Formats: sequence, C-alpha cells, structure tokens
Amino acid sequence: MIDGTVARKTGKASEFGARLDSIADIVFVVVCLIKLIPVINIPTWIYVWIGVVALIRIINIVSGFIMQKRFIILHTIMNKVTGLLLFILPLTVPFVDLKYTAIPVCAVATFAAIQEGHFIRTNRFKKEDYKMKEVIKINENTWRIEDDGVRFYLLCGSEKAVLIDTGMNSPDAKQIAEGLTKLPLILINTHADPDHISGNSAFGEFYMSPNEEENLHAHDGQGKILPIHEGDVIDLGDRELLIIDLPGHTPGSVGIIDKKNHVLISGDSIQDGKIFMFGPARNLKQYIESLKHLSKYEDLFDEIYPMHGTFPVHKDLIPKLIQGAQSIVDGKAQEYAKPVNVFGNEVTLYNFDYAGFLCQK
Ligand SMILES: [Zn+2]
Repeated sequence: MIDGTVARKTGKASEFGARLDSIADIVFVVVCLIKLIPVINIPTWIYVWIGVVALIRIINIVSGFIMQKRFIILHTIMNKVTGLLLFILPLTVPFVDLKYTAIPVCAVATFAAIQEGHFIRTNRFKKEDYKMKEVIKINENTWRIEDDGVRFYLLCGSEKAVLIDTGMNSPDAKQIAEGLTKLPLILINTHADPDHISGNSAFGEFYMSPNEEENLHAHDGQGKILPIHEGDVIDLGDRELLIIDLPGHTPGSVGIIDKKNHVLISGDSIQDGKIFMFGPARNLKQYIESLKHLSKYEDLFDEIYPMHGTFPVHKDLIPKLIQGAQSIVDGKAQEYAKPVNVFGNEVTLYNFDYAGFLCQK
C-alpha cells in the first residue's frame, strides 16, 4: 500500500511500476476471495452490495476511458482506506460475525467508488495520480526525467548536482532530484517556456539567460534569475558545463555543453519534434544564426540531449535544421506546409522528415 509513496520519494516511480502495482493489488484481492469464500458464510445482501460497488467502479473506468482515452484508477485516500479495511477484514472473521464488519467496509468502499467517479468526471484530480514521471538513468551520474512529452535532466559532478529544467507537470522536480543525489543541487533553465519551469519555485533562484526575464514573467515564473551568458562555465566538480547562447526559439534560449561527456543539452532549439516558432519573441532568422554559431563548438560534442522528441539525437541534425529553417525564410518550403491548430492558434506546420517547425501563418 505504501509502495507507491516509497517509489515516488526515491524517484523510482514509473508508469509501468504503477500498472504493475495496480495489477498486483487486483491479483491479491482475487486470491484472497478464492481462498475465503468457500470457508465463510457470506449473506446474499453482501454479495449484492459488492456487486453494486463493482458496477460503480466499472462505470468509473469506462467513463474515464471515454473522457481521457486512458485507463484510470485513482490512488485516492479513500481508495487506500478501502484497501486497508479489505486487508484487515479477513483477520476479524474468527472474532466478529461478518454481517457486522461488512457494513462499515462496504459503506467505505461505496463512498470511495462514488468519490473516485466524481473526481474522474469533473477532472478534479492531480495529474500525478495517473500520469507518472519516468526517471531513467543515462549513466552513473546522469538521469533524464520524462514528463509527459517533455524531459529534463539531472547531472552530478563530484561536488554539485544540477537540474536542467523542471518540466511541465513537475512541481516536485527538486524532490525527485534529491531522491537521486545527496549533493547540493542547483538549477539551470534552457529557457522559460511553461513546459520547462514547472518546478522552479522550489528553488528560489536559478541560472537562466537574463534575456528570458520577460518570458519567465509572462508564465508567472517565480524566483530570482542568476544571469548566465555565452562562455560561462559552471563546474559541478570534475564536470564542466559550458553555456552557449541560442536565441531564436525564445530570446534567452541557451544550450549547455557537458564537456566531459561530449554532450550538448539543447533545450527546444535542436530536436526532432515540432519546434515552436510562432508567437511573440520567436525569431526564425535569429534561430538560424544561433545554429550556425553553434557549429563553432561542434568539436566539443557528438550527442545531443533535447527536451522533446527522440532521445538522444546526433549533431548531424543541426545542418538539416538550418537548411529547413532557411527554406521557410526563403519561402521555398511550401510543399511541406500545412495548417494546424496548436492550443487554439491557427499556425503553419512545416513538416520535414527530420523535424517540424510551427510558424506564424
Ligand atoms: Zn518546450
């Protein structure tokens, strides 16, 4: 019952683990029932009550599937209490007649089922109740945290650890990192789009390009910017991180080169997903210049760790992105263009086979 909490505290929670846990709970209950039903006398009305609870839960699952297109079982407090009571109930059988003990247990189970249905149908539940973040170890001192379409990274040196971004649904990003390392923890943001700063407030201050200030405040970002600039080196102890300015996707986007591991952590600027280039302060021409400028450093890295799309990508992607973006600027990419709606904005998607650009119409 507390396995989920332990997993989240230690940063080992995953969607697979959560499913396995749910399946294990169901198997446990079924095995108990098979063993117990033949040896105890259960009145018919209890069967009817159990049937009603089961029916409510089936309706919950079906309506959850219709509304969210996914299989939802919520780990609510009342569901946990029900589980605990069901666990204790067989132990009381030798002492108290089941027809007395079953009433409170069935009542709690009914309430839990109705409440769960209400939460599912009103969408009133915390995202992490059903969408787990996945923490994946890249090597001995590097992790990536997959957060529903966006990812962020934890890098450890000999003296310090750094979280690079804090994801979209991760107010607990700091907690996750602290479950993985005991080193003093700092935060660097590649930029301040809302899918990269959800856990920033737990830090109070963080390294970010000062050119990102407006973007940060536009997304209600709290905390103090410790300004970083091109050429700055942040040393984690035997692991130096070099900051490169990559304006274009946003005015203060940066890339971070992990020199020791020959890796570039690229934010949203270099990735094989859809790169957002519409809306205020995005600048495709500046983006092209940034990527050309980056080639000055190409001896320092081979692999690229992006925040979206495939992990990892190779630096071969950079010239392709330059070429694609240039063809859009030159008006020569019409054959790849199609209108799409993104969060209520009518925009143009230039869908190249190596990546996409979402641009103003
Ligand atoms: Zn992003």
